[in-house]
Amino acid sequence: MKSILITGGAGFIGSNFISFFLENNKNYHIVNIDLLTYAGNISNLSEVTDNSRYTFVQGDICDRDLVEKLFNQYHFNGVIHFAAESHVDNSIKNPDTFVRTNVFGTFNLLDVAKNYWMESSNLYKKGFENCKFHHISTDEVYGSLGKEGLFTEKTAYAPNSPYSASKASSDFLVRSYFHTYGMNVLTTNCSNNYGPKQHDEKLIPTIIRKAIKGEKIPIYGDGKNIRDWLFVLDHCKGIELVFKQGEFGETYNIGGKNERDNLYIVNCICEILDKIKPKKTSYKKQISFVKDRPGHDFRYAIDATKLEKDLGWKAQENFETGIQKTIEWYLKKYQ
Ligand code: NAD
Repeated sequence: MKSILITGGAGFIGSNFISFFLENNKNYHIVNIDLLTYAGNISNLSEVTDNSRYTFVQGDICDRDLVEKLFNQYHFNGVIHFAAESHVDNSIKNPDTFVRTNVFGTFNLLDVAKNYWMESSNLYKKGFENCKFHHISTDEVYGSLGKEGLFTEKTAYAPNSPYSASKASSDFLVRSYFHTYGMNVLTTNCSNNYGPKQHDEKLIPTIIRKAIKGEKIPIYGDGKNIRDWLFVLDHCKGIELVFKQGEFGETYNIGGKNERDNLYIVNCICEILDKIKPKKTSYKKQISFVKDRPGHDFRYAIDATKLEKDLGWKAQENFETGIQKTIEWYLKKYQ
């Protein structure tokens, strides 16, 4: 039985990943460390709580003693690191927790893993040679695009918010543990995820919730900001592939080739709700434009060719199929 440490597994992507990975990989035991900040929700994991190959530990990735204790107890073969402060708006108001968790927390995990797995630089302890550290990052580290172009793994970093700057810093720390110590690291940078179990504060759950409650649906600025939308299960499949087959020291971009602006998204969700949960007037009447977020990046779009060509990944959902599944899930949650 292999043993891996998942961090931040009570959050949106981590919780989707744990259910998916446990189901597909019967020879793995997962330990999930999560601080259960406002963003973590233990009920996201209800389907795995009773699984004998799953263990939950409430704790902080910045707590060195705890992380060391877990390595000594469970002898991890790998780490998949999701834990982060992840909401850009919160990073504008309170950047300090972003630096602590995203930068220091990543350093802490890397350093404990290195000491547990490695004898010295470029020398793994016997039996630990294939142990690996997979860091989950974001396309926001690349900054903002104009109307044209895509982010590739070679695009220079240009983070614009305290959130993306803290993620960029953590990516550089991961990179440095490969180049300095020869540690087996992998990084994936993904685009905007959507799907079941996302926190209520994020765009798509907010649109659905406000719509069915009959409240105003807030859209930043003119709604023209573009994101490349990735269905969370497609992301989980990409992470599994990279974790198992990725080349150490490499970065892989994961994106859905589904660029949509916020206006399209809100209209699309309203149209689906008009069909499946009709009322007297269209949900579109509730759309309301609010003051834009400071420094709001105009466009992100990912070129995932490397992951597709090298490891054979392909997004299975487009936005229109993924959003249908997503709306159905949130309707059950909010009703
Ligand atoms: P999330 O905010 O839903 O979940 C983060 C989880 O980390 C929460 O369960 C929280 O309790 C936990 N956590 C926070 N601080 C912690 C700490 N100090 N110690 C232990 N646990 C802690 O985030 P998400 O959307 O699931 O994102 C997961 C990862 O993917 C993040 O690293 C994020 O940067 C990255 N990412 C997310 C998206 C997206 O669209 N959601 C896009 C690109 C990259």
